[in-house]
Amino acid sequence: MSGLFGVVSKNNCISSLYYGTDYHTHLGTEYGGIAFIGKHGMPVKKIHDIKNSQFKSKFYEGSDKIKSHMGIGVISDKDPQPLTFESKFGAFAICCAGLVANKGALTHELIQKGVSFSEIDHGEINTTELVAHLINQGKGITYGIDHMFDKIIGSISLLLLTKKGIYCARDRHGVTPLVIGEKDTEIAVASETCAFPNLGFSVKKYLTPGEIVRISKKGMEQRRKGLQNSKICAFLWVYTGFPASSYEGVNVEKVREGCGRFLAKRDTVQADLVSGVPDSGVAHAIGYAMESKIPYRRVLFKYTPGYGRSYTPLSQELRDRIALMKLIANEAIASGNRIVLCEDSIVRGTQLKNYTIEKLRVAGAKEVHVRPACPPLLFPCIYNLSTRSTQELVARRAIKALEGRDVDDISAYLDPTSEKYKAMVDWIAKDIGATSLQYQVVDDMVKAIGLPKERLCLYCWVGKGVQKNLLSYEERCSEILVQH
Ligand code: SF4
Repeated sequence: MSGLFGVVSKNNCISSLYYGTDYHTHLGTEYGGIAFIGKHGMPVKKIHDIKNSQFKSKFYEGSDKIKSHMGIGVISDKDPQPLTFESKFGAFAICCAGLVANKGALTHELIQKGVSFSEIDHGEINTTELVAHLINQGKGITYGIDHMFDKIIGSISLLLLTKKGIYCARDRHGVTPLVIGEKDTEIAVASETCAFPNLGFSVKKYLTPGEIVRISKKGMEQRRKGLQNSKICAFLWVYTGFPASSYEGVNVEKVREGCGRFLAKRDTVQADLVSGVPDSGVAHAIGYAMESKIPYRRVLFKYTPGYGRSYTPLSQELRDRIALMKLIANEAIASGNRIVLCEDSIVRGTQLKNYTIEKLRVAGAKEVHVRPACPPLLFPCIYNLSTRSTQELVARRAIKALEGRDVDDISAYLDPTSEKYKAMVDWIAKDIGATSLQYQVVDDMVKAIGLPKERLCLYCWVGKGVQKNLLSYEERCSEILVQH
């Protein structure tokens, strides 16, 4: 997913915009961008490629010369954004987070109506541009956003900047969060609440699914009521979110500790120490250690937070290089010990196998018992880019190996009490080189989050989403625009 931040102020707010956007760096690795209202009342945008450098370094130079009382920013996991438009509603800038699964069909429909697209990269339309054109079909901005929600399959949350204020809209299913914060002279909107404390903001309101508000110097004004039946992404707490953030008022770090506690409650393994794979595995391990009374010690260190997430970059080569370089095993702690190793999740299994467990073995670990904080990932995400095709998921590779072919009905592998589930877990344990492997169960993960099960998106694990007609990753690839 991408991270969004926006701010309006009675004074110059570029510093808040700059740091507030930067506090979303953990949510994207491709582009960082800001747009602000310039001298002539028109939006001005600046976008930088942040694949090999940080948002901070790219935007630091010259930021003190910019003055504005209103702006939006984004750390983008795929497309360059924000984008600016002149339209029947006047000039605006827009950035968004989420995914449009029926992008090809919607693009084709708009082109038939005479709409032109300019932001094409590798044959694919920029999602933010498509969203903007859909909004332009409405009779007003709020109507337009609502129209866009009607048309898309998937989830889009967005910020839209005009000279009158910032429209903040949370996707209709509530998959991606947006929260409003305030302080004396400023109102902000963010994907993550971790952007608020150091900038002096306190949480005013979590937007509800489909809700649209406009923030301006006059305050916050609701433009469209939200819905109550959210399906917020459970993976935010397990892996994606920053530990100091809260979604729907539920703190990420506390949920991770809870996940670790639930893992320990079901475990009987004998071990000398508990450790976590940095960064997100650490809090899961702390929770496990608190519950099991086995000491928490650090056997793995991340050399620098400057390395991106190992599975977010789109090229396998870059993922492998990052995975190899970023973690260092500490032989002084690992050697001779039986280790419980907590990890947020296992996607492909390659990082755990080649760059984590192998490193601990070389460092002298006697046993490595892997405990992922969420159940086996069996279905690729349909709302974000975070996981890839079905074939890449290690649990699916296990099923294929056990069945000798691809199978459509995998329901037996979803039941943690079934023989098939056990065989799948044993296959994965052997594949990654773990002494033992025990996954979290869905209900324990839900209990650790603390929200009602029906308010969470659990599609990655159970294969049931909020929309029945979403496209698979493979189908999404075939939606790439063919240019004529
Ligand atoms: S499919 Fe998984 S990663 Fe995607 S929104 Fe749902 S829970 Fe989150």
